[in-house]
Amino acid sequence: MATSSLHSLNTFALKASAREIVAVRKLEQLHACLPLSQPYLVLGGGSNMLFCGDFDGTVIHNQMRDIEYWQDEQNHYFNVAGGENWHQFVMSCVNKGIGGLENLALIPGSVGAAPVQNIGAYGVELADVCESVKAIDLRTGKEVSFDRQQCQFAYRESIFKTNRDYFIHHVVFKLPKQWQAVLSYGELKAWSRELNSQPSPLAIANEVIKVRNNKLPDPNDIPNVGSFFKNPVVESSHAKQLKLSYPEMPQYEVGHSVKLAAGWLIDQLGLKGHQVGGAAVHERQALVLVNKNKATSRDVMDLAQHIIEQVDLKYGVKLEPEVNIIGHQGYGTLKEFAGE
Ligand SMILES: Cc1cc2nc3c(=O)[nH]c(=O)nc-3n(C[C@H](O)[C@H](O)[C@H](O)COP(=O)(O)OP(=O)(O)OC[C@H]3O[C@@H](n4cnc5c(N)ncnc54)[C@H](O)[C@@H]3O)c2cc1C
Repeated sequence: MATSSLHSLNTFALKASAREIVAVRKLEQLHACLPLSQPYLVLGGGSNMLFCGDFDGTVIHNQMRDIEYWQDEQNHYFNVAGGENWHQFVMSCVNKGIGGLENLALIPGSVGAAPVQNIGAYGVELADVCESVKAIDLRTGKEVSFDRQQCQFAYRESIFKTNRDYFIHHVVFKLPKQWQAVLSYGELKAWSRELNSQPSPLAIANEVIKVRNNKLPDPNDIPNVGSFFKNPVVESSHAKQLKLSYPEMPQYEVGHSVKLAAGWLIDQLGLKGHQVGGAAVHERQALVLVNKNKATSRDVMDLAQHIIEQVDLKYGVKLEPEVNIIGHQGYGTLKEFAGE
């Protein structure tokens, strides 16, 4: 059976293939291939994917491009096709002086994927700017629209992560004309203190780009998927105990629980640079695993499992991958595929 390579469609640059890849530039192309037999998978830029081997199904690759703009007295609105590049869209807004997305500059990937894990950076999340999400239910071929509440956004979560049957074709953004800069995040806070006046959206985006370029490896140079793990959330009693043993441990209250910094936990174990086969923990950013030298998906899985075990052993904290883990039949967990 003919297969299609996913090598250039995942920023980890892992070798994998799919049974079939369908490029969707117009919705008619999607409708023409429905109903799909299981398994199937929607793909954008592949910057949040770990393919643990060949995928024995159909990949629907969103390549839809178009941006529609309108406004009312209070807000700017953009209806953006899912295949548009996220960073280019952010820059097109800030270059027009429109604020709201600047903190999310340089996040790789497509607009259609942004609601899936409610992308976030430097104190702003997609949930803050998303008016609605328009999708096709791949089971029925029917159009479905989700308002912000129906998206069930949470930290790196949304309804599109619990139900994988939606193909997001457009996202509607609402950006208030009375824009308020969000400069509360560490590096932006320090930078803005030095300024004499309120920075423009473009100036903030440029600063975010500078900070990110210093901190994060560019997947074009060193293949990676950004943060491999989510920041773990623990009960406050557990956090208190940890603080007694490790007074310098960063902790952030979220409701009645406490969020820990996964990168800090990994760094404290001395795992920066740790390598398994061709996969390694990035030298400067412990939360990022990189394909250093022709890594296989097995190398990445073994490295990730090692980190999970070590963090659990030392802190009693269970790290969970932020990246989407795909096996022969679709979504799964590291544990499931490590045994395959
Ligand atoms: C260097 C680097 C830095 C990063 N920094 C951040 C960061 O700061 N914050 C952050 O939140 N993320 C970050 N990421 C992760 C990644 O950029 C985001 O998750 C991004 O939204 C993924 O977009 P994508 O198009 O590549 O999605 P893909 O990797 O192709 O897909 C990701 C998930 O979304 C689903 N999906 C994709 N498109 C659609 C669609 N049209 N309809 C329905 N489902 C869809 C896929 O099925 C999959 O489950 C980073 C990644 C890298 C490599």
